Amino acid sequence: MAGISKNTTIREFQDFIQGVYGLQNNRYFEVSEMLNNIQRFAMRGIKGIRKNNTKRTTKNLIISFSWLLSTLNRLHIDLEKETWNRFPYHCSYCGTIPCECKTKKVQKRVDVADIDDSKRPKTLNGFQKMFNDIYPYSTRTLEHAGVHLAEEIGEFSEVLIAYRNEKEDNDFKRILVEAADYFSCLVGVFNSLNVDLVSELANLYSNNCHECHNSPCSCSYSYIKNYKTED
Ligand SMILES: [Zn+2]
Ligand SMILES: [Zn+2]
Repeated sequence: MAGISKNTTIREFQDFIQGVYGLQNNRYFEVSEMLNNIQRFAMRGIKGIRKNNTKRTTKNLIISFSWLLSTLNRLHIDLEKETWNRFPYHCSYCGTIPCECKTKKVQKRVDVADIDDSKRPKTLNGFQKMFNDIYPYSTRTLEHAGVHLAEEIGEFSEVLIAYRNEKEDNDFKRILVEAADYFSCLVGVFNSLNVDLVSELANLYSNNCHECHNSPCSCSYSYIKNYKTED
């Protein structure tokens, strides 16, 4: 697969994950098992926040994000599209930039009809900057960003499990929203850490799978199942 560069888009990275991991994922994992990996690696990343270990947080959150994209690939959901639908250069709740939810005590989601597509970031890095414009890192602590990410993973998990059980369209629509919320909070942690997400992706995935360096990945089932980052 072509590597990741600073101009890589969210969609290109999602396609990269499909190319490298789609085959093994299809053979080895159910959606619920992929969800378990989204959660597992995110919690390790959050532990890194408590331990003041940026390297641990960064790597584990990237692996959680990769599992999220694998899950979205399985469900044919385009994260870039859903992120822009949810965050068209303003807060999804109060509708302003920067977000005024806290200062104005906004109680109800504001409907914003006008989406200016000319503002849509082109690259993943552009989306990271957009999220910092909407939710400046200076307005929260790193721990706050971590707690918010944990909350969103809980909400994403609930709705994904509900959809797997009942196959209701409404639950599927909520998956789209919760996936975008997860991504916004993941990027929020990177903004709080002042870490450039796409540079970290480029480092970790400089040569296909970060473990076997093949595309498609040829890691064994037991290797993937028992995988832990060394930090
Ligand atoms: Zn807001
Ligand atoms: Zn591999």
